[in-house]
Amino acid sequence: MSCVLIVGSTALDSIKTPTAENPRLLGGSASHAAVAASFFAPVQLVGIVGEDFPKKYLALYKKHGIALDGLQVKPGKTFHWSGEYEVNMNNRRTLATELGVFETFSPELPQAWRKTPFVLLANIGPDLQHHVLDQMQRPKFVVADTMDLWINIAKPSLLRLLKRVDGFVLNDSEARALVGEDNVHLAIRKLHKLGPRYLIVKLGSHGSILSSPAGRFLCPAYPLAKVVDPTGAGDSFVGGLMGYLARSRGGIDRNLRRAMAHGSVVAAFCCEGFGLNQTTRIKPAQIEARVKEIEELTRF
Ligand code: AMP
Repeated sequence: MSCVLIVGSTALDSIKTPTAENPRLLGGSASHAAVAASFFAPVQLVGIVGEDFPKKYLALYKKHGIALDGLQVKPGKTFHWSGEYEVNMNNRRTLATELGVFETFSPELPQAWRKTPFVLLANIGPDLQHHVLDQMQRPKFVVADTMDLWINIAKPSLLRLLKRVDGFVLNDSEARALVGEDNVHLAIRKLHKLGPRYLIVKLGSHGSILSSPAGRFLCPAYPLAKVVDPTGAGDSFVGGLMGYLARSRGGIDRNLRRAMAHGSVVAAFCCEGFGLNQTTRIKPAQIEARVKEIEELTRF
């Protein structure tokens, strides 16, 4: 079994849905991805928090066996994000983004982590993603995630990053925005030309599309009757996927479809609670049971 190194945001999230409101939950792209990956493989977390970061959240990372040598604790405030969902939870509005210690973040990898084979550059500014890659020594498989903000304000850096990664994960609206193409299948063709051999376009509650050297694959989302809070679902998906790949023997192409199904299931658990409340409660057997359900649903 290999390790996964994950860099991204480590945040406090204040989340409002039509029925409830929860302040200062453990959040951030790297937190969601790291907990999701930890169900499958050892995880190394690279991020930054302020002195206000609650000890109970550090304990939660530790409970999941997440190595924290790359987590900087600095004077100042932890990155704080707040968002509000409409009744249709596909629609979300960012209410505030307070960078705090993130403003001066420069990820430094412990020497022993520079040879980690699986690297997830979770959602964070592309300059910081570059900085992490600069420190890695010949990783086996690097996947980057992003968000609309970076497409809008840091596109040249993001485009340079795409030449350096094996895989790129983004949602359908981001794919359209990045290559200026409405049809998602044509957008995928254009995205490959930017560099990545592996592309995964997420379609929210409709699942995701993989385009790879071994062909295309449509992975469904696990059908949930009730979504409590979808924050971090995309991060949980890609974290679970990378953890599963790190755990599996054999090549990427052999394991990637199953990895997506496992990521999809962890993402669904994430949606069933606020923040990481539900994800941190799941047991491996529950993940496998839902993967089997997806398998049944898609066999014909
Ligand atoms: P998702 O629901 O997959 O879009 O991810 C939500 C997570 O992204 C939340 O936990 C936030 O803390 C984090 N987030 C929001 N804005 C940013 C940003 N500008 N940079 C990095 N992470 C962010």
